[in-house]
Amino acid sequence: MTDLTRLTLADARDGLRAKRFTATELTKAHIAAIEKARALNAYLVETPELALAAAADSDARLARGEGRPLEGLPLGIKDLYCTKGVPTTAASRILEGFVPHYESTVSGQLWRDGAVMLGKLNLDEFAMGSSNETSAFGPVVSPWRRKGDDAKIVPGGSSGGSAAAVAAHLCLGATATDTGGSIRQPAAFTGTVGIKPTYGRCSRWGIVAFASSLDQAGPIARDVRDAAIMLRSMAGFDPKDSTSVDLPVPDYEKSVGASVKGKKIGIPREYRLDGMSQEIEALWRQGVEWLKDAGAEIVDISLPHTKHALPAYYIVAPAEASSNLARYDGVRYGLRKQGRDIVGMYENTRAAGFGAEVRRRIMIGAYVLSAGYYDAYYVRAQKIRTLIKRDFEIAFQAGVDAILTPATPSPAFAIGEKGSADPVEMYLNDVFTVTVNMAGLPGIVAPGGLASDGLPLGLQLIGRPFEEETLFSLASAIEKAAPAIELPQPWWA
Ligand code: GLN
Repeated sequence: MTDLTRLTLADARDGLRAKRFTATELTKAHIAAIEKARALNAYLVETPELALAAAADSDARLARGEGRPLEGLPLGIKDLYCTKGVPTTAASRILEGFVPHYESTVSGQLWRDGAVMLGKLNLDEFAMGSSNETSAFGPVVSPWRRKGDDAKIVPGGSSGGSAAAVAAHLCLGATATDTGGSIRQPAAFTGTVGIKPTYGRCSRWGIVAFASSLDQAGPIARDVRDAAIMLRSMAGFDPKDSTSVDLPVPDYEKSVGASVKGKKIGIPREYRLDGMSQEIEALWRQGVEWLKDAGAEIVDISLPHTKHALPAYYIVAPAEASSNLARYDGVRYGLRKQGRDIVGMYENTRAAGFGAEVRRRIMIGAYVLSAGYYDAYYVRAQKIRTLIKRDFEIAFQAGVDAILTPATPSPAFAIGEKGSADPVEMYLNDVFTVTVNMAGLPGIVAPGGLASDGLPLGLQLIGRPFEEETLFSLASAIEKAAPAIELPQPWWA
C-alpha cells in the first residue's frame, strides 16, 4: 500500500469513503510517522490511544455509510486549544500539569465532524513569537533545510508545530491561531497553506487568550482545498464567544478552482520596503503575473498607514496580553511556587512560570496601560488601528476584491540566528501580516516557490470581511500556476 501519510486531506477523505483503506490504517500510519519524527519536536503531547479509539469509531460509522464530513481524518491540534482530558500547556511552564475539563469550540467542531486527534502541537509560549523558539519545551525544527547545509531551520511561529507537522506529513492538517501572523508566516516558511479568517468567523472560546481583539483560529494544511475543507468545520457562530459572528458558513471547497476572471487585485505600494530582497520582489511580481494570466485585473493601491502597523501592533498585543495573562497567579491553574505570603507566591510563580519573551510582553503591556502612558501609547495605537482599517475600507470601496502582498520579508532562518540580541529583529518578520489582524480581515498564504537557498516562500492575499471564498479561489489560482514544491527527503526519520 502507498504511504497513507502522503495523501492530502481531500484524497484521504475520498479514499476512506471508497473503502480503499480504513481510518485505523490511516491513523496508524500517522502515529508511526510521528514516532519517527521526534527530532522535529513538533508534538508536545501524543495521543495515540485516543486516536485509535476515534479511528475505530470512524470505521464503524463509515461501514454503516454514516461518515461525517471529516470522518476518520487524523489532525494535529495547536497546544493553545483546550482539549478535554488532554494536557494543554500553551508551551508554557506556568500551565504544566493543566488538564482542561472542557473542549474548545473549534476543536469540538472538528470532532463533531468526525476528525481524529493525533496530539497537541508545539508553539511559541502563549503564541508570542515568530520562530517557535520561545516554547518552554524547546524549538520546533522545520523539515526543510537550506541547500547544501544541514543547519536547523525554524518553521516560523507561533504555530510552528502545526506548520512543521503538516509539512513533514505528521498529520493531514492542523489547527493554528493567528494574532499577528502566526498562521500565515509559518505556512510561508514551510511551503504549506494557512488562512486566518475574518475576526469573528471562528469562536475563540476555549483557546488560551493572547490578545483577544486580534486572536483568530484557522487551519494550516497541505493545499488550498484542504484548508477550505478544514475551515468549514472550524468556522461558525458560538454564543459562548461574544465576538463570534452569526453568519452562515459557506462550503468553502466549492470556491477552490473557481474562476477569478475580472477580480480586481490591489497591489499596495507601501508593502515595497526599503532594502527588501530581490527575491521577494520577484516573487511578488510573479504572483501578479499568475493572477493576471488567470483573468484577474491588477490595480495599484495605497494603504498609507501601513508603516505604523507594526509599532502599533506591538503596543496593542502586549497590552491585551498583560491583562489576559494576569490570571496565571499560581492559584487557579498549573504551576505554583510558594512564597512568604500570597504576593510572594504570585511573584515567585510568575517569575518561574513565564519565559523571557512572555515576561517582556507583560512588562511592555503593563507600561503602555499605566496611568501617564496610556494616552501616549495605548490610545495612540488604537487610533492608528482605526486608520489602518480605514485604509483597507477605502481600497475595498474602490472595488478592490483582494490585495496581493508577500507573506514574509525573507525565507526562514536558522534556529538562534535572529532576535537573540534585539527582539525587534524578530518582530520585523510580522511586517506584512499584522495589518490584517489590526483590521480584522481574512488573509491566506499559499506557496509561491523556493528561494535561492532552497527554502519556501509564500504569497499573501488579503480579502474583504467574510469573503474567504474569494481568497480560496485566488489562492488556488496561485497554487495552480506556482511550481510544485517537493519536501526534502525525510532526514529526521
Ligand atoms: N509573531 C507575532 C507576535 O509575536 C504574532 C504572533 C501570533 O500571531 N500569535 O506577536
